[in-house]
This record gives sequence, C-alpha cells and structure tokens, in this order.
Amino acid sequence: MGMLTIGAFAKASRLSPKALRLYDELGLLPPARVDAVTGYRLYAPEQLDRARLVAWLRRLGMPLARIQRVCALDADPAAQEIRTFWAQVEADTAARRDLATFLVDHLSRKESAMPPTAPLEIRYAALSDRGLVRESNQDTAYAGAGLLAVADGYGSQGAPASAAAVDVFKRLETDGIPAGSLLDVLEDAVEEARRAVHGVAGTSVGTGSPDDGVGTTLTAMLWTGSQLALVHIGDSRVYLLREGELHRITHDHTLVQSMVDDGRLDPEEAASHPQRSLLVRALGPGADVTPDLRLHDPRPGDRYLLCSDGLSAVAPTGEIHRILSGVAEPERAVRALVALANDSGGPDNVSCVVADVVEVRG
Ligand code: MN
Repeated sequence: MGMLTIGAFAKASRLSPKALRLYDELGLLPPARVDAVTGYRLYAPEQLDRARLVAWLRRLGMPLARIQRVCALDADPAAQEIRTFWAQVEADTAARRDLATFLVDHLSRKESAMPPTAPLEIRYAALSDRGLVRESNQDTAYAGAGLLAVADGYGSQGAPASAAAVDVFKRLETDGIPAGSLLDVLEDAVEEARRAVHGVAGTSVGTGSPDDGVGTTLTAMLWTGSQLALVHIGDSRVYLLREGELHRITHDHTLVQSMVDDGRLDPEEAASHPQRSLLVRALGPGADVTPDLRLHDPRPGDRYLLCSDGLSAVAPTGEIHRILSGVAEPERAVRALVALANDSGGPDNVSCVVADVVEVRG
C-alpha cells in the first residue's frame, strides 16, 4: 500500500483534514512525507493506528497536550495514563453535580413562593462517648442554636483534628454568617477547616511536613434562620425523621460506598466489608476534601440525627428509628443512641446530635 493523501488518510482515521493539519503543526501527528514540489502532506498506512488513537482520545475529551504524552508511551503506561485522566474527569463531574444540585436547590427555593410559616428554631442535644474498646475519644460532637456538627478524627492527632474542624464552624455560629453567597461562605469555611486540620497534622511529626495519616470527617448543619445548610465530607451521617419515616440524607464518602454505586458490591456485603471505613474523602493532608453542600428546608416536627460511624456501623437502622420515634427529649435520645452503640459492643467512638425543629412560641 502506498502513501495516503491527507483526504484519504482523514477518511481512514476519522479525523478531519483541518485537524490533521493542526496535529502536524503541533508535532502530534506529522505526515510521513511532505511533497517538496506541491507541499502536499502524505501519510504512511502505518500511521493509521496512532491517528485512530488520537481520534478516540479526542472523543474522550482529552486535551491535546495530554494526548501527546499518551502517544509517546508504551501500551501499558498509556492505558494507565488514560485511566488516571478518566478518574480525574469523574471526580470533577461529581463535584460539579453537587454544585449543580446546590444551585438548583437554591434557585428553586427563591422562585417558589413559600407559604408564610411561623419562625422556626431547633431544640438540640449532643453526646460523644469513647465507646468500650478505644483508648481515647477522637470524635467531636457539638450542638448549638445555630450549628449541629459531628466530626470523626483519625490518626495520632485525631482528637484535635476533629475539634479544629468543628471550631471553624462554631465561629460562624458565634459571629454570624457573613454577607454574600451562602455557597461561598460554606466553601471558605471548608477551606479554613482544611487548613486548620492541616496545621494540626503538621504539629504531629515535627518534620515540617504534615502527617498524611491525620484527618477527620466533618458533617455539619448550619442554621441560617430558615434553612439548614449541610456540609458533608466523609462517613459520618445525617438522618431525617419526618412524619414517622427515617431518611438518610448523606452519602458516605467511602471506598465501599463507591463500589456499591458502581454495582461492584452489594449493600449487604458493604456492611461487613473489612475496609468499610476506608474514606475516599476527608479533611486531611493528601485527602480529597471536596464537600457535599445541600440546603434543607426544615418543617416543624422534623428531627435530625447527626452521627459518627460508631453508631451507624454497629446499630441496625430499625433500632435507630425506634429510638428517634420513641424518645421525645433530645437529651434522652442521644443517651439512648450512645447506649445502643455500646450495647452492640461499642467498638468505636460514638457521637450523636439530635435536633428537633419547632415553631417559636411567641
Ligand atoms: Mn469512627
């Protein structure tokens, strides 16, 4: 088979002649020969493999500079490079999906004329317990008039890490939410919490580089006066008891949960998986700190539970539901939930925050 003209080569490789000229200029796919007299580009049939790879990678959305790197690699490292690229695309898409959800929540709330309701407030209680096995308590639980939070620290500085993350949001509660977009406020607070945890991790080794084994989950709900803004990173959880039904409103950022999402693991298998607590997102050096951000419109009668995995990993959901439905006082409910975890062996630190949404009595 002889040399191919740019038209024939374009047809065979499914790249346009215009694209081929560009890839020539970039050095990505130079023609085998350029006719000295006519200046026509001529391609060798052996170049088709690379051209087809370039075409497929373009269809994948890979930038040209990166395609150039892939083309310079052997098959195995090239496959690895494509795998890495795709993982980044998926992480980016997930973050944008959360942002889109937040904006949809935010705008549809502005649009819908909410019926006037009596002002609401929350009645709350928080309790954190070492459990029966661990030597210390690295969880932090907090409940106040403007903030509900649970953080589950890990590593040599787990306790200060979880406390530092919650402290950042406690300052928002005290100082009030600064003017501006709530989304920006939450994002700034997460960044500040990330730096605070990073600082804690940095003090644990004394080498100047932060300890990658230190970090914390953070699940917090900030009361704006009419809404609860949820910030969630890690595997602590929020449940909502509304009209007798228990709903889990957070998604665990764990390896096993992502395997369940991909259909690679059954939910039943996930519960007993040896690596079920392996986090894919957390506040800590080297971790993906992308938060889930949501706005919730609370209704009178709603009851929220925030808990660390020390409860959810050992207590059957039915038992949690039974206590939340049956124990009226938040103070007594958190004690009953902690007792439930400890009755199940108490293998981990356990933290619970219970908050009831009530109408303000005039
Ligand atoms: Mn835990």
